[in-house]
Amino acid sequence: MSDIKMTQNLHTHTTMCDGRDTPEQMVERAIALGFDSIGFSGHANTVFREACELGDRLYPYIDEINRLKGAYAEKIKIFLGTELDYYSAGCMPEGVFDYSIASVHYTVREGELVSYDLSVEHSKDAIARLFGGSGLEYARAYFETMADMPRRLSADFVGHFDILTKYEAKAPELFDTGCHQYRKMALEALTAVREKYEFFEVNTGPIGRGYKPAPYPQPFILDEMKARKCKLLITSDCHNSKFLDRGFGEAVELLRAHGFDEIYKLTDRGFVGMKI
Ligand SMILES: [Zn+2]
Ligand SMILES: [Zn+2]
Repeated sequence: MSDIKMTQNLHTHTTMCDGRDTPEQMVERAIALGFDSIGFSGHANTVFREACELGDRLYPYIDEINRLKGAYAEKIKIFLGTELDYYSAGCMPEGVFDYSIASVHYTVREGELVSYDLSVEHSKDAIARLFGGSGLEYARAYFETMADMPRRLSADFVGHFDILTKYEAKAPELFDTGCHQYRKMALEALTAVREKYEFFEVNTGPIGRGYKPAPYPQPFILDEMKARKCKLLITSDCHNSKFLDRGFGEAVELLRAHGFDEIYKLTDRGFVGMKI
């Protein structure tokens, strides 16, 4: 385990979108863990209005996080954020958030919404019906959307760069993340995104939720991020206060093993580096 004490998580979801605990319960847990700050990243609304989004709770969410900022000011720094999706462009108010995350969760194929983190069954069905049985084409659609993301979204850091690998341990037959074509499309997307974005997250969400033993992104992408001087944050994409710091120690060790000696955290002065 790492000897570095992690004191911030900027990727958290609550009962205001698709999380299990209230914002206040998350704040209490963060204080109990000794965090000096926490950021809330409620799922931004999209053109699809999926159930996981803030939806009509958008303004109650903003009000509640702002209330907590004041109520807990003596104990912890709270940031109001949102996790944007490629299809959130134009769906969210501007100038109210302290930070935002740019993520891809969906593509659209033949007029149908295709999700990359819904379930193995959904992925299998989409591959069979919409991608001619080719898992690699399903993956290609994801990375093409990711590559185009910077044109549509301006945010502070990139979320789960390869969330499509969520089921790689449970359902490795979906597509081969080790093959040359897969790696090529992933790195082409990284090249495109890196032109605009400097900060990326290492997301331990799949560890907390038991999907796979390692965070996003995969090791070969981490190596390329290192080569391209990307700056990394560690988050847990937490939908349950139990997992607020799940996998953080492992993530630090992983980053050290891949040659990183710094991670970043958000402050009033923007992102600052922390030696690891
Ligand atoms: Zn996400
Ligand atoms: Zn998330």
